[in-house]
Amino acid sequence: MKAPIFIYKRPASLDEALALLVDNDGGTQVLAGGQSLLATLNMRLSSPAILVDINRITVLQGIEARDDGIRLGALVRHREVLTSPLVARDVPLLAMALPYVAHMAVRNRGTTCGSLALADPSAEMPAVAVALNARIVLEKKGARRSVTARDFFQGLYQTARDDDEMITEVIFPKADADEAFGFTELSRRHGDFATVGLAIRARKAGGALNDLDVIIFGSEPCPLHSPAAAGISIASNASDKDLTEIAATITADMEPMDNHQGRGETKRAQAATLLRRTLKDMQQRALALEAAQP
Ligand SMILES: Cc1cc2nc3c(=O)[nH]c(=O)nc-3n(C[C@H](O)[C@H](O)[C@H](O)COP(=O)(O)OP(=O)(O)OC[C@H]3O[C@@H](n4cnc5c(N)ncnc54)[C@H](O)[C@@H]3O)c2cc1C
Repeated sequence: MKAPIFIYKRPASLDEALALLVDNDGGTQVLAGGQSLLATLNMRLSSPAILVDINRITVLQGIEARDDGIRLGALVRHREVLTSPLVARDVPLLAMALPYVAHMAVRNRGTTCGSLALADPSAEMPAVAVALNARIVLEKKGARRSVTARDFFQGLYQTARDDDEMITEVIFPKADADEAFGFTELSRRHGDFATVGLAIRARKAGGALNDLDVIIFGSEPCPLHSPAAAGISIASNASDKDLTEIAATITADMEPMDNHQGRGETKRAQAATLLRRTLKDMQQRALALEAAQP
């Protein structure tokens, strides 16, 4: 099928783009990498009257280190994030998750901010943003605000962004030396959207893991930040049985959806297995690091 007819605008400045979004009721949409939007147009799943192509707006480019974290502009492609030494050093969870995002051709054009804006429940970037509580910057004509990722995702494809706002950048906090991270997912084929996945952040103390943030995605309408995980500590000598029990406690928080990728209860069982394995891996890496200390 072909896309429905729309008016195409390609502003050269951010002011011009924001002016095009004034009084928007959803009929005007931003076009970033186009990897999701063009597919929905061609399948006639959406029919915006106006597309605002932001690809010429140079202030939206670039990955940079700031005092408050690593800033990704709205035009930063998945490939740039994946190959950035700055991201690998300062936001390791993002670097761990990127290889799971689609395939090289999609990563060459698709943007991190576009993925946040779309809020697909099976996408990796929203889960990472929630795990690290990244700050998402929203701008409209004459106003700018920032929303934490934990407040941004509100439901199935629902976010805190208003129709007259654009995401202009996202800021990920830099990892502290005592932080540990884990990321994994289950999908039918590598590069497919996740059936269920996990993004984990914790603090290491020797080989123990404390202060856990466990995000489960793919199974819920939007990334689930497990309330139960926050109160859990994993001892350096935690056994497989202990980890199985911890995984069961955390996945009890889930309200998994049935969908074309499987039954909700199957996803809960899959999440528990992934969680046990990932926590074990994080525990072993923390112990190995501890053993390597002089
Ligand atoms: C074959 C295929 C496989 C894929 N697999 C995965 C996968 O495994 N994991 C995954 O996470 N993604 C996957 N994707 C999606 C891909 O990552 C997209 O690039 C991404 O979801 C959207 O980014 P984009 O820049 O292409 O946005 P676009 O397609 O341009 O836009 C998507 C939506 O977000 C809005 N939008 C975009 N940027 C902004 C902004 N700055 N401010 C406000 N609104 C904005 C648009 O208006 C539109 O509604 C896949 C895509 C394809 C085609």
